[in-house]
Amino acid sequence: MANKQVLVLGAGQLARMMSLAGAPLNIDISAFDVGSEHIVHPLTKNVIGHGLNNAIAAADVITAEFEHIPHSILDICEQSGKFLPSTQAIKAGGDRRIEKQLLDDASVANAKYAIINTRSDFDAAIEYVGIPMVLKTALGGYDGKGQWRLTDSNQIDSLWNKISASLEATPEQAVVAEEFVGFDREVSLVGARRASGEIAIYPLAENVHVGGVLSLSIAIDEPELQTQAAQMFSAVANELDYVGILAIEFFDVQGKLLVNEIAPRVHNSGHWTQQGAEVCQFENHLRAVCNLPLGSTQAIRHTAMLNILGQDSLPESVLAMPQCHVHWYGKEKRPGRKMGHINVCAQSKDELKRNLTELVNVLDPAAFPELQAHVAKL
Ligand code: AMP
Repeated sequence: MANKQVLVLGAGQLARMMSLAGAPLNIDISAFDVGSEHIVHPLTKNVIGHGLNNAIAAADVITAEFEHIPHSILDICEQSGKFLPSTQAIKAGGDRRIEKQLLDDASVANAKYAIINTRSDFDAAIEYVGIPMVLKTALGGYDGKGQWRLTDSNQIDSLWNKISASLEATPEQAVVAEEFVGFDREVSLVGARRASGEIAIYPLAENVHVGGVLSLSIAIDEPELQTQAAQMFSAVANELDYVGILAIEFFDVQGKLLVNEIAPRVHNSGHWTQQGAEVCQFENHLRAVCNLPLGSTQAIRHTAMLNILGQDSLPESVLAMPQCHVHWYGKEKRPGRKMGHINVCAQSKDELKRNLTELVNVLDPAAFPELQAHVAKL
């Protein structure tokens, strides 16, 4: 295999971890910082090029680390014939209307929904979807942002004021009304698909969110649920003729999965694969987009991942814990910002709980809210 140049749209931690995973395979990553429009090195952030067109010309493959990319940029990349997965897949991840249509087209179970552009749509959605209801902006929503709950009919008018303000602020905006799902837990699946149709899927992860943001992900081994999730993954990935890593988030309702959302990229709930799987999600994404054989997605030990949010230091004792692996993203500290993560490994489920408990006991509970309680429940 020859050296490959991959241009990533986005210069955050996911491009950084792709760069780290690509180096052993001689896959070099450059990153397009969508804010500054500079081509930067994903590790040093040094500017290494000017102009998207030059970077496109120099790249063998173009891919993306996030879905909120201006369509004008996506169009330029698509025209080059080098962009993977596809503009359609990126748009499905960034627009809940397109995402819901995709799930329906792939015949994959998801929460009952209606699309709202006007007050009469809102009234019809209340009738069709029912109360309680979750309302989400079609564009720009992530980590629980751009969401409202309608739990009582006396909130309808005040909620409409908020929804209409959001619709007026962005002309192409709409709101997706979804039935409130009384789920038991949230799980997600990360897998890779190659142009040939070859698919490799990682074990499911069980996810704990705090304040709408992922806090803890634990790889699980539950064959029945895995089979169900894998079928849904293949249906969506095949519908999109997808190439690369695709992540799907699910609600588990008494053992039946409903898709919550998809992410057409490597995903936070797949970071555990860096230590817990034979080949991690970042390497498999690069293998898929470079049309190389996919690596094994098999779990090699029990692994959990916890996010470091808004903190730029940890007690040094964490590094002395033999089965803890710290991954910093080199970012400037801001409240709530994803700054890094810790992968915790073990040879058994019981040992994983012990290792997580030991770790959580040395972390500042204010910096890792609710984590102790969640680990105690494992
Ligand atoms: P999302 O941005 O769609 O992932 O939503 C953020 C969080 O809100 C999810 O992780 C769920 O905990 C919750 N949520 C989203 N949609 C629903 C729903 N239809 N019913 C119940 N909870 C939901």
